[in-house]
Amino acid sequence: MPQNPPPPRIHVLSKPSGATCNLACSYCFFLDKELLYPNSKFRMTDEVLENYIRQLIESHRSSEVTVAWQGGEPTLMGVDFYRKAIEYQEKYRKPGMTFENTMQTNGTLLDDEWCEFLKENNYLIGISIDGPQHLHDAHRVDKGSQGTFDNVMRGLRLLQKHEVEYNLLVTVNGLNADYPREIYRFMRDELGTKWIQFIPIVERVNPDGFNVYQLGNTVTERSVRPEQFGRFLIQVFDEWIRDDVGEMFVQTFEAAARNWMGLGSSGMCVFEETCGLGLAIEHNGDLYSCDHFVEPDYLLGNIKDEHMLEMVVSDEQTKFGQDKRDSLPQYCLDCDVRFACHGECPKNRFIETPSGDPGLNYLCAGYKGFFHRINEPFKILTMLMRSGRPASDVMAIVADREAHFTEAFAKAKPDEQCPCGSQMRYKDCHGWQRPKRRRKRRRAVASLARPPVRVS
Ligand code: SF4
Ligand code: SF4
Repeated sequence: MPQNPPPPRIHVLSKPSGATCNLACSYCFFLDKELLYPNSKFRMTDEVLENYIRQLIESHRSSEVTVAWQGGEPTLMGVDFYRKAIEYQEKYRKPGMTFENTMQTNGTLLDDEWCEFLKENNYLIGISIDGPQHLHDAHRVDKGSQGTFDNVMRGLRLLQKHEVEYNLLVTVNGLNADYPREIYRFMRDELGTKWIQFIPIVERVNPDGFNVYQLGNTVTERSVRPEQFGRFLIQVFDEWIRDDVGEMFVQTFEAAARNWMGLGSSGMCVFEETCGLGLAIEHNGDLYSCDHFVEPDYLLGNIKDEHMLEMVVSDEQTKFGQDKRDSLPQYCLDCDVRFACHGECPKNRFIETPSGDPGLNYLCAGYKGFFHRINEPFKILTMLMRSGRPASDVMAIVADREAHFTEAFAKAKPDEQCPCGSQMRYKDCHGWQRPKRRRKRRRAVASLARPPVRVS
């Protein structure tokens, strides 16, 4: 019998085609996971699928169940696999239970048949796109090393044609992190989305050369640098807080706002005090602690041998989730923005604190800068919300208060702290310059109101 109380709901990322993908994005951490299953065909069987859907439903005390598909590339399974999944949801549905089906895809294999199915079953689709073509094609390539932008756009336009709900996921890497405004405006104005997720690429240099295990304390060139990531978030935030509050939804900002308002949950596991309720299931029914820990040490078991709920509430998984809080170094415990950061994801905690303690998050400097920058505006936002005023009122107030930055920026020295309050160096924050490009701004109408597809 389970020793720990069952949670109302869980989130399981399912990988029906394992790590296989039709693309070969240069930073993909999952492609090497194929090595975990030598000689596998990487296709979830009908037996595993039915067992999975049944156990997922049985693991819920809540009437809302998210069925999340990811990869590798989940569309490699073909539409009929997902038709079966819907059938099994109906077969095992409890009275009053509703399902939200989500899928994170590169979008390149979508066609009219796919989109009709997705629309009919009210899927929420997350499309991975890294910005305009010159940024997207730098890393998101096919197996012949050709850029995939045109194919992704074709899939995206099909989703729009069939009015399938979608949001966009941008991986922030060492290249595109220098183009925050260009990416944000492209997503908003050219692609017409309202929901954006930014996921930092932190790719460790594993001494054995493969990414099956997360080892090593250096990162690849493709990885985003901490200050670079902080600056990216700050520059997008500066545009959002002046123009787009209530119109555009950036997952990181939404999560931070919830933490500033003290709502109890940010909605993003990385910014929670503890985790452990976001698991990953492989094509053969192997259940892992998390999508970012699909490694032998974090294999909880297989659903054909043990019920999913027993593994979720096991001491092993409970400890995994609580370690996120219990393993924080003193530097984080003393941090003034810990309430918003909570040390982010344990997978990124591989550097030392200034006093030499292990376990500091690689992205710390960036997150600290970002959270300091948003502190004032989000205090104002919180006051507005508590007094029943619309969040969008913050834009005029912030614009008024921040007018003095213009003068302060003009006087700032490159190595001094940025006047914006981030505590980053001016030259790494608002003093950073990139050659200007000509842009045209076309505002598109977007219709999405559902939160983003969760990817981790
Ligand atoms: S992504 Fe990181 S924070 Fe989220 S559940 Fe996994 S280990 Fe925990
Ligand atoms: S900002 Fe840095 S010090 Fe503060 S909680 Fe996050 S990782 Fe720890």
